[in-house]
Amino acid sequence: MKSSILVFGTNNFLATLPDQILDTNIFNIDIVTNLNQAQSCIHITPIDIILVQASLDGSMGLCSWLKEQTKLSCVYCILFEDRPELLTLRSQENWEWELLVNAAALEQGADAYVWQIPENQTTYSLANFAANYQIIIAQFTVGLRKAQKYRDLLEKNALLSAIALADSLTELNNRRALEWDLPRQVQQARALKNPFSLIMLDVDFFKKVNDTHGHLVGDRILQLLCKRLQNNLRSQEIPFRYGGEEFVVLLTNTSIEEALNIGHRLNRVVHESSFVISNKLSINITISLGVATLESEDDETGISLLHRADQCLLKAKETGRNKVVICNNHHISPVNAVSS
Ligand code: GH3
Ligand code: MG
Ligand code: MG
Repeated sequence: MKSSILVFGTNNFLATLPDQILDTNIFNIDIVTNLNQAQSCIHITPIDIILVQASLDGSMGLCSWLKEQTKLSCVYCILFEDRPELLTLRSQENWEWELLVNAAALEQGADAYVWQIPENQTTYSLANFAANYQIIIAQFTVGLRKAQKYRDLLEKNALLSAIALADSLTELNNRRALEWDLPRQVQQARALKNPFSLIMLDVDFFKKVNDTHGHLVGDRILQLLCKRLQNNLRSQEIPFRYGGEEFVVLLTNTSIEEALNIGHRLNRVVHESSFVISNKLSINITISLGVATLESEDDETGISLLHRADQCLLKAKETGRNKVVICNNHHISPVNAVSS
């Protein structure tokens, strides 16, 4: 992936930079000349390095703005000092003063501060120019290295999050993912005034399956069950593995009536055809389901909603299994007698 460079500077400034850092075959380069342009450019494309011409209006504001944005702290900012008054003072070889100017620039938010050599300056030799190019390229390389490290970290982070939130057996989201997602779904439903429902389901007599056929067959059943559940859910219906053979489905923007239909569908697709383990072994299982919908008095973490669905699931177990029980306005009802 190409690194992205933003140049905050004029064409004359651009001409003073080493060719190696302006190679469009290697880098994506954007050039802007004012603060607003720079800010909108940074918001549109992620930037790795920004090269700032100090004499341009807004340069210092840009450096400090960048450092205030926590999301942009990874952008490496190199400030090029080309303000004539400072360049003149510097040529008087006042080193202590120069160090103080360097420190001030870094304090204002630049990651690196590079002095430009004034054009047509006879006091500087070719060797001085070469050394200056070298320091610019070195600073630029530091910025690229930092950007690469940051990208590696982002990738690792995404991978770790996926591992932390996935269930290794079924590849569904795990309980930790549910604990993360459920409060967000509740808050979103309330903010948008959308209905939000939830199904909790559990495999009936699953212990018997393990006892009869062994745990490996039990594991395979769970995998096939999850595939079947997922194949019968839409993208806004998100399944989670809550515990051993217990699952939760979050139903975004779904009323209790729709949730009930979904519950019926899942119940049917599980019991109506067997799970094929091998050409010699097919196993029939059933599931019990509890369905609940978000009420105004529910807490914002979703725990009370989850608890209601769990109560319905228990009722389904107690009253015969292989059925859907719904909780509407805090009344738990068998599926064929929905109370309002
Ligand atoms: P009920 O209808 O009341 O839910 O009966 P049940 O037998 O399904 O319930 P119980 O809680 O007694 O047993 C659940 C079983 O699920 C016991 C446990 O070994 C099994 N189980 C849980 N997680 C896994 C798993 O990852 N793999 C396998 N093979 N079995 C599992
Ligand atoms: Mg069970
Ligand atoms: Mg269980």
